[in-house]
Amino acid sequence: MKAYKLAGWTKGGHFVDVAKPEPGAGEVLIKMGGAGVCHSDLHIMHEWTPENMPELASVDYDFTLGHENGGFIEALGSGVSGWDVGQPVVVSPVWACRRCAACLGGDDAYCEGPTMLSGGLGRDGGLASHMVAPAHALIALTNLEPSEAAPLTDAGLTSYHAVKHSLGVLTPDAAALVIGVGGLGHMAVAYLRELTGGPVIAVDRSEAARKMATDLGADLVLDSNENTAAAVKEATAGLGAGAVFDFVGIDTTMAMAASLVRKRGKVTVVGLGGGTFPLSYGALPVAATIGFTFGGSLVDLAEIVALAESGRVRPHVQHFAFSQIEQAYHDLHEGKVNGRAVIVPD
Ligand code: NAD
Ligand code: ZN
Repeated sequence: MKAYKLAGWTKGGHFVDVAKPEPGAGEVLIKMGGAGVCHSDLHIMHEWTPENMPELASVDYDFTLGHENGGFIEALGSGVSGWDVGQPVVVSPVWACRRCAACLGGDDAYCEGPTMLSGGLGRDGGLASHMVAPAHALIALTNLEPSEAAPLTDAGLTSYHAVKHSLGVLTPDAAALVIGVGGLGHMAVAYLRELTGGPVIAVDRSEAARKMATDLGADLVLDSNENTAAAVKEATAGLGAGAVFDFVGIDTTMAMAASLVRKRGKVTVVGLGGGTFPLSYGALPVAATIGFTFGGSLVDLAEIVALAESGRVRPHVQHFAFSQIEQAYHDLHEGKVNGRAVIVPD
């Protein structure tokens, strides 16, 4: 089968002929229906090194990309029950130990077990005709196509997880601010609209992304420039936002996020832009916090699959054929993808 694999650290990706994998114990073989193209793949292909990503330093850096996966079960490995051949599923990008305290508490995104390598993130992922995945990382689909649902597993999951962890500060009198309305950010705007009562403010430097935010119901949509902060302050009666979500994560967006959070508010940095924020007393309003999140839990994924299946929050998807993978990454790099690009079989 054809697979789109990493060519080595900072060497990008390439198409390679590989053997179709076989599911091991506890695993299933999945015939791919769709694989989302995440901005993290651009970091993985072009920016990550054994030095800046020590967790992956010992990994063979030629795994198949694609950590946002949906498809149809084609075969069950030994010991797998409760799943049927032909069944449509999505695959969580978190392949956790399921034994540590974090996993047992339903917080598998923060697994403290031995390894956390998953398909497209250290092991072979979904940019191929088939992939294998642990049966325990699957969520069943009932009325959604895998090619429509695949982005739920990261663009949806990661943004939902961040929003869910901020619900405590998102009282109806508090604004939410989303910086970067791309694959993850457009889902964040939709989840905020669905789950919270306060105003949703969205910031993006791309006009198409701003239009998407408006279409998704954001109350105020702003370009990212020297006037943004003043406009957010004005819209929040000088207070700032209760929760800020930074889906870019560079110096300027992190500084903007910190300057626009409210006292007792919460800044969540999701973007892997490599930015830094100098933390010292007074750098944030009193009792405000800043932190990072990673992915989301299997419970989070089950919840957003339910939201999507009921038709309430679905990803905005742009399909590309398998042979157009490099075009999709190019468009993503150029900021030309609206919502999420999903690779579907040729
Ligand atoms: P994307 O390219 O689809 O979206 C990024 C958006 O940010 C685009 O709309 C772009 O126009 C906008 N943007 C870029 N620079 C900006 C700026 N200075 N001001 C305002 N807007 C700006 O990317 P994505 O797939 O949504 O991923 C977003 C980030 O989240 C990436 O860094 C990715 O690696 C990271 N990510 C993190 C996790 C996690 O678990 N923490 C999971 C998935 C992705
Ligand atoms: Zn991702």
